[in-house]
Amino acid sequence: MYDPLVHPFPDQNQPDPDSYWLKLSGAVAPDDDGPVAGDADVDVAIIGGGYTGLSAALALARDHGIKATVLEARSSSWGCSGRNGSFARISGGRVPWSRLVKTYGADVARAYFQELRQGLDTVRGLIADGEIECAKQPDGVYKVATFGPHADSLRREEELYNTVLGYPARYVEASDLRGIHEGPESNGALYLPDGFSLNPLALARGLHRMARGHGARIHTNSPVTQWIDEGGVHRLVTPTGTIRARRVIVATNGYTSSRLHPRLAARVLPVHSQIIVTAPMSDAQVAASLPSGKCMFDTRELLFYYRRLPDNRMLFGGRSAISGADASAPRHRQYLYDAMVRKFPAIGGIGVEHWWGGWVAVTRNSLPFCYKVPGAGDVFTAGGYAGSGVSCSIHMGTKLAMMAAGRPYETAASFLTSQPGRYPFASFLRLGQWMAYRWLHAKDAREAKRAG
Ligand SMILES: Cc1cc2nc3c(=O)[nH]c(=O)nc-3n(C[C@H](O)[C@H](O)[C@H](O)COP(=O)(O)OP(=O)(O)OC[C@H]3O[C@@H](n4cnc5c(N)ncnc54)[C@H](O)[C@@H]3O)c2cc1C
Repeated sequence: MYDPLVHPFPDQNQPDPDSYWLKLSGAVAPDDDGPVAGDADVDVAIIGGGYTGLSAALALARDHGIKATVLEARSSSWGCSGRNGSFARISGGRVPWSRLVKTYGADVARAYFQELRQGLDTVRGLIADGEIECAKQPDGVYKVATFGPHADSLRREEELYNTVLGYPARYVEASDLRGIHEGPESNGALYLPDGFSLNPLALARGLHRMARGHGARIHTNSPVTQWIDEGGVHRLVTPTGTIRARRVIVATNGYTSSRLHPRLAARVLPVHSQIIVTAPMSDAQVAASLPSGKCMFDTRELLFYYRRLPDNRMLFGGRSAISGADASAPRHRQYLYDAMVRKFPAIGGIGVEHWWGGWVAVTRNSLPFCYKVPGAGDVFTAGGYAGSGVSCSIHMGTKLAMMAAGRPYETAASFLTSQPGRYPFASFLRLGQWMAYRWLHAKDAREAKRAG
């Protein structure tokens, strides 16, 4: 399997994921412009055809009159955007709000919250404007306390949301979770009224159609294999032709190979996230496990996210594998299955019909970025959503478009526009991650023991 720390680019032998979304939406993708054919000069090239790249292409064409050329290594939205857990939330990165306030102050935290809120509104607007049929579900997100003592921290989080961020999150008592979330890990929850699930591949395909409809070109099976800087002009080499661009947007996020561009290397850690989707549950199983169809995630250090799909299957995701070579080992699928059944004993023995994974991008500060790459000419990039990027990536795409069109992106959430730090000891990244996982697992196990 493609591993950004090992391979130079996603090549044509990389298979499509065994995803439920691909089964629902069908293997036939919307029309595109095929592989690059020969050599061409363009104004703006975008590397990566996921939400970030497609949203940038759409905004460039629609709002700035620039018809960009997207270069996607495989098929459109082949990366995270076509295979994610399907939650569009007010989220981006993985820093708890309390830590964000402590590190950057309340004003910056509020500004960031507003950015993320805008991102979710942008997604709502695009679905409506583009009449994107992506099975959008009603709003509502539960962060569910896995262990009893976690309820207290959710109450504190509720207060922070209400008083610092001015947002009406509310704590739900364990007893009030009955009929919403069953099982032994229902120990209270924080309810966030905004956020919904959808078919993520259908959303990406909708963006693709809109971008192309406004004049963007989308070349699939066109991996950038070499990037040559010709003094202000960027020569992007693909197997079937070369694109010379004045400006480049890099939208490869967790799929960014360390070899794509020296200035981008080691600024994100690609982290593998995996999902299983079960066979349909019976009505009795639904009632005894997850009656609600809203977005759910838990309070473990290595958290799990899950939802009941409209056809009563359980979608259950989390992190386990470290390297691409190891990601298809059956123990990772079993790890998810065991966690799901621990949470919902009523579905023990249920079959798994889909299992897939993808690379999310985590920065050293676990926050996203959107900046002009210093010392690289007109090169702009965004990413680092840490597995919480459905709405954030679409929002950042619009900001990248603005920057590439020559307008500054001004935000009080200043970390967003700063270049993320490089990971030190890049060759030992996987070892560091393995150690971090061991530590987090141990922490979760200690909590489980304490909770009895
Ligand atoms: C299993 C999983 C579950 C997730 N669940 C959620 C969720 O529920 N909610 C949420 O908010 N977020 C979730 N995410 C994260 C979310 O999907 C991403 O943050 C978002 O899709 C990022 O979009 P992107 O366009 O930046 O990157 P991607 O969609 O990953 O697109 C990057 C693209 O770049 C291409 N590429 C790479 N190198 C090259 C090259 N050299 N030349 C050309 N193209 C190249 C790749 O082929 C890829 O298609 C999840 C991710 C995964 C993997």
